Amino acid sequence: METLLVATLNKHKLYEIGKILKGFKIYGKGIEVNEDGKTFEENALKKAAAVFKKFKKLTIADDSGLVIDCLDGKPGIKSARFATPPTPQNLCRKVLDKMKKCKSRQAHFVCSMAIIFHTGKIKIINGFVYGEIANEMRGENGFGYDSIFIPSGFTKTFGEMTDTEKNKVSHRARALAKVKEIFSKADKTK
Ligand code: IMP
Repeated sequence: METLLVATLNKHKLYEIGKILKGFKIYGKGIEVNEDGKTFEENALKKAAAVFKKFKKLTIADDSGLVIDCLDGKPGIKSARFATPPTPQNLCRKVLDKMKKCKSRQAHFVCSMAIIFHTGKIKIINGFVYGEIANEMRGENGFGYDSIFIPSGFTKTFGEMTDTEKNKVSHRARALAKVKEIFSKADKTK
């Protein structure tokens, strides 16, 4: 079975990736990188490159976040560090607080995935899920902003959905569907 390094220390991301990408021996490898890129794509590549440089194995990295229209795209690429300490409660409370005067509750999650093949070849792809921000936190599942995000076409927040339900529509699942397609077309080692 092919080894796939996932450049993350986030156990929730690793769990979701492992559930969706079957057929690999998946290892989480975290290396501290300064996430100072201006885009999700730049930060995903930074993370993947740091792990690839050390282990020289097929590597993927995910940089993701929540983009809220009425907050000019915030928390965006700063999603992980939007509140201090960045517990799900603090992150969600800060968003709800900042949105008190908002007319629109439209938002979307972005997931940029950088793949680095054994040869050093790089591919970057993106997944999105559109929806809206709930009026209050609902549900205990997941992580980060899951308890306040309602994907379009649903009434439940991600926090109220099962893993299987979230993985059918999430930004990460959509990005990983493209990763799977890339892997299935190419010899994974190239
Ligand atoms: P980073 O990609 O490590 O910079 O972290 C992205 C941050 O965005 C996470 O720490 C979460 O707070 C948030 N985030 C990304 N994906 C999800 C998700 O699927 N559900 C809830 N929050 C998420």
